[in-house]
Amino acid sequence: DPGGLADVGVTGLAVMGRNLARNIARHGHAVAVHNRTASRVDELVAEHGDEGDFRPSHSLEDFVASLAKPRRVIIMVKAGKATDAVIDELVPLLEEGDIVVDAGNAHYEDTRRREHDLRERGLHFVGTGVSGGEEGALEGPSIMPGGSRESYEALGPILEDIAVDVDGTPCCTYVGPDGAGHFVKMVHNGIEYADMQLIAEAYDLLRQGLDLSPAQLADVFDEWNEGDLESFLVEITARVLRHEDASTGKPFVDVVVDQAEQKGTGRWTVQSALDLGVPVTGIAEAVFARALSGAAGQRKAVLDRGLAGPSGGRLEGADAEGFVDAVRQALYASKVVAYAQGFDQITAASQEYGWDIDRGMMATIWRGGCIIRARFLDRIKQAYDKDQHLASLLLDDYFAEAVADAQDAWRRVVATAVRLGVPAPGFSSALAYYDGLRRDRLPAALVQGLRDLFGAHTYRRVDAEGTYHVLWSEDG
Ligand code: NAP
Repeated sequence: DPGGLADVGVTGLAVMGRNLARNIARHGHAVAVHNRTASRVDELVAEHGDEGDFRPSHSLEDFVASLAKPRRVIIMVKAGKATDAVIDELVPLLEEGDIVVDAGNAHYEDTRRREHDLRERGLHFVGTGVSGGEEGALEGPSIMPGGSRESYEALGPILEDIAVDVDGTPCCTYVGPDGAGHFVKMVHNGIEYADMQLIAEAYDLLRQGLDLSPAQLADVFDEWNEGDLESFLVEITARVLRHEDASTGKPFVDVVVDQAEQKGTGRWTVQSALDLGVPVTGIAEAVFARALSGAAGQRKAVLDRGLAGPSGGRLEGADAEGFVDAVRQALYASKVVAYAQGFDQITAASQEYGWDIDRGMMATIWRGGCIIRARFLDRIKQAYDKDQHLASLLLDDYFAEAVADAQDAWRRVVATAVRLGVPAPGFSSALAYYDGLRRDRLPAALVQGLRDLFGAHTYRRVDAEGTYHVLWSEDG
């Protein structure tokens, strides 16, 4: 109906919002478009107006008036204060039952607050994760919407339409109430940090240990991308390593400043994991490794002073034999641990907030569109399909066996990293986590003893119920 009201609106037309609006229009929905700075609206229509049915507005009032009821408004602005500013302006213009969607990268606690406030005003608020960057927004992202189930009935069909499709299944599903969607998106980003750190460690170990060139390593990653490690990140690792810098002819990776930046979602994930008491060591080590890389002053001071390390050198003879494949296995096993931990965090939050998140469905909607898309996610989906209550991904038969097969290589690689003085915090902390989980008795017993002595914090016994305390002052 070209003269009628629009199906959905997008306000905020920077790279993400603009591409999302185009994606919606390309799927045959009439889309109202608005942006604080009106020129962005005109640019969008001038450049892409022929792609579908755009309904441009220069004021928020006109924008809202151009929408069919219940109104579906997608906000795609800078996360934080800007989102609150837009919501405050928008809410007085809306009516009961309308749906406000925040598709930016909001913190899930903000989403919980906003959902609560809007629900009190009779509006639906949907905080949704949208993964896949600019290209995903246009070609089909992975979409993780939270909010009320009722709102998903009105909104879900459009979102599922514009999400990327894998094997006939859209990478979009209802995640859970209030902050659930943004929480899951946050953990997705945390896992992305861990994945990238593990890949970087594999690259570093092979380059230092075997003296392989970036171009040779590109071939290694290409080969790995044919097997169980097949993923978008491994694929683009090969591309980055093969890339030559145009102005110097050097490997591109050698002209890039070695300080990894971060926008904050990895840090949020770790902060939340600390509050929930879930050991997400893979994500935490990745966040800390970026922080260490960025500590430029300290690194330079240490380099100038020179701190002792092993005499090192590259691997020779038997030490070099099969090392490439050992690193592949260590990468795979460490990745299993990082994902197991990320899913544990989703489990813990789902219980804490009463979200009832279907973990198998999360693996399903991460198979396409998003940065961590991988063959591996099919395995995770299968694991949760087999057992919805799986206590750890490491307990699933497929993953237990994969890690069992990899563990000798994994230990060899961690030992080699230590011997060469190559930092591999992702690989080694994943192995420590795995060994910790496997232990019959942990030295936590000693920690409890210490706590009882200095703080009378009491302890529990292996052979009786209740809590106990030793009268240490009488113990001599
Ligand atoms: P952005 O640079 O984060 O934000 C720019 C947009 O926000 C512009 O439309 C701007 O309007 C609007 N804006 C800022 N302050 C405003 C205010 N006080 N009132 C009204 N509008 C305001 O844009 P982006 O990169 O497209 O990202 C949008 C959202 O998607 C963010 O939350 C981001 O975290 C998330 N996200 C981004 C990516 C990515 O790859 N970039 C991926 C996933 C998610 P004006 O034009 O008037 O300045």
